[in-house]
Amino acid sequence: MRNILFVFLLTAVIGAAAEEAAAPKARPALFPNGPKGGACTYEVYNWNIRKKRAVNIKKVKHPYSELTAEERDPATGCTVCLEDQELLKIGKLKPFYACRKISGVLRAALEKLIADGEPVLEVTAYRPGRTKNPLDKKGNRTGFSNHAYGVAVDINRSKNGLYDKCFKFGPGCRLIHGGRWKPGVKGTLTKDSAIVKEMKAAGFKWGGGIEGDQKDFMHFSSFGY
Ligand SMILES: [Zn+2]
Repeated sequence: MRNILFVFLLTAVIGAAAEEAAAPKARPALFPNGPKGGACTYEVYNWNIRKKRAVNIKKVKHPYSELTAEERDPATGCTVCLEDQELLKIGKLKPFYACRKISGVLRAALEKLIADGEPVLEVTAYRPGRTKNPLDKKGNRTGFSNHAYGVAVDINRSKNGLYDKCFKFGPGCRLIHGGRWKPGVKGTLTKDSAIVKEMKAAGFKWGGGIEGDQKDFMHFSSFGY
């Protein structure tokens, strides 16, 4: 009986040690609940529509196991946590973070485009800010956008602005962010440009082709929003 107990204990100890050895160290598991004792950290802000800038900038840190519903994107499982983002260093682009669930396909698409000589000039993805409605009384946006989860990507922002009042593109559209959209200029995205086609092939929808009153020519995500 004592021997059986000893073997049982030994097995348990070896099992625990093996589990520890197999656990990733610098890179916590992404889905579904992260590592035991792992943290979720990010720097959050509200976009204020009156001041037209980020306000309430603060650092958040809590156990990964205590993620709230809004901190996780139900469509992809990606979260606002920096721990779930991968820093992508691609060609001469400024390094940027994207959720590990999309970072592989995104890297492959961008590397192919750059190898083909396409003008991929600026790329950003993860921005854990509250930049979506609803608005509070002070003019702060309070919802997380797809960028907050690292699942939306902006390409060539300085030439592909976000417009509203823009069901169909024309002189009445109002530029909100980024540079003016002038098809024909190098780096400008249209439905026929190789960058848009490659991103679509990688599973992204283009914000320049979405229904509704906004046209976000720099923007890509699984739904285009
Ligand atoms: Zn965007």
